[in-house]
Amino acid sequence: MISKKMESFVANSSAIRAMFEEGKKLAAKYGADHVYDFSLGNPNVPAPEAVREAIISIVNEEDPVMLHGYMNNSGYEDVRETLASHLNGLYGTAYTAANLVMTVGAAGGLNVIFKTLLNPGDEVVTVTPYFGEYRSYAGNFDAVLVEAASVPGTFMPDIEDLSAKITPRTRILILNSPNNPTGVVYPEAVLREVGALLEEKQKEFGTDIYLISDEPYREIAFDGVSVPWIPDLYANTIVGSSYSKTLSLPGERIGYLLIPSAVADFDNITAAANTANRILGYVNAPSLMQRVAARCCGAKTDVGYYDRNRKLLYGSLTEYGFECVRPEGAFYLWMKSPEEDERAFVAKAKDEEQILFVPGRSFGCAGWVRIAYCVAYETIENALPGFKRIAESYGL
Ligand code: PLP
Repeated sequence: MISKKMESFVANSSAIRAMFEEGKKLAAKYGADHVYDFSLGNPNVPAPEAVREAIISIVNEEDPVMLHGYMNNSGYEDVRETLASHLNGLYGTAYTAANLVMTVGAAGGLNVIFKTLLNPGDEVVTVTPYFGEYRSYAGNFDAVLVEAASVPGTFMPDIEDLSAKITPRTRILILNSPNNPTGVVYPEAVLREVGALLEEKQKEFGTDIYLISDEPYREIAFDGVSVPWIPDLYANTIVGSSYSKTLSLPGERIGYLLIPSAVADFDNITAAANTANRILGYVNAPSLMQRVAARCCGAKTDVGYYDRNRKLLYGSLTEYGFECVRPEGAFYLWMKSPEEDERAFVAKAKDEEQILFVPGRSFGCAGWVRIAYCVAYETIENALPGFKRIAESYGL
């Protein structure tokens, strides 16, 4: 018998993964070239050449015992020092190794910081639509995920609703920008408003409210849109970062938490995060990949590749009459379903055109769908006639 808690996790298990499995079945039936799978955020751009070179030279040059051994649970001191200096160069900050915890991707980092901060019954607020795994991560620590609304159309946080959702039980507000699934980037003015609101609520309730900025897509922004550095705007900000998307290394499981010294209870939080990394069973982030991350500071994925996909997909779908949010970052297109129940739209696209994408309710927002365009350009080109036929069948 599995545990009661796992029963509910399994029952709510990701619709995105289910769609991916469905894609494999369709590929067996129709041939892979006739299935257009936009369901998963798995980057298809290869990791930058710098990653391959780093792996080879690290493996050839470094002492293998040291390289593959255990280290401080927060990661190699010199790696963290290098990453801190890199961030200081970018943001004019004064971080040191003490501000960084190397993690098993963003997912590992979020679980470490949730374990560090949450007591059972605490509330984690997020803004809809949101990365559905947040619900499981909060549930891991018996906390409650609370959904705050976004502004229809722009999908920016609705400050009034956010204000209503923050209570004395709120420990964390988790935000994600560039956003999965909408592709929007929160501008500085909006983040300042959020910061001011949190300051106000902290004073009102006499609590510390931590803003967790989940930013695996920070480097993937288009049209010169800037992604603000949130610790500059609100002191109790902790950043969760990852190389899964920006270096195309999702299977390698490497990322970090940045905990600025200005956050309330800094010493206890960093000590607890170090322990959490160990006792959650991660022990430490993968050692080789920590070294790769340090050597590849400044390297990033081919954003131009995603931009080309974005332009083709957004341009074509809007031309066919679909209502889409123009993506500014990440590699997702957020599109309004032409019928009320977006699950019917998703099923129609799958059954009639073998085009796969994900219902918005997986992200807490029914009536919309997410199309992941981290795919080959040809996949988009070949799927477009099917999208056009669907548009016509809805009379768009
Ligand atoms: N947060 C968001 C918003 C994501 O989209 C993802 C992955 O898709 C993650 C976290 C987890 O990333 P990682 O692979 O680094 O654990």
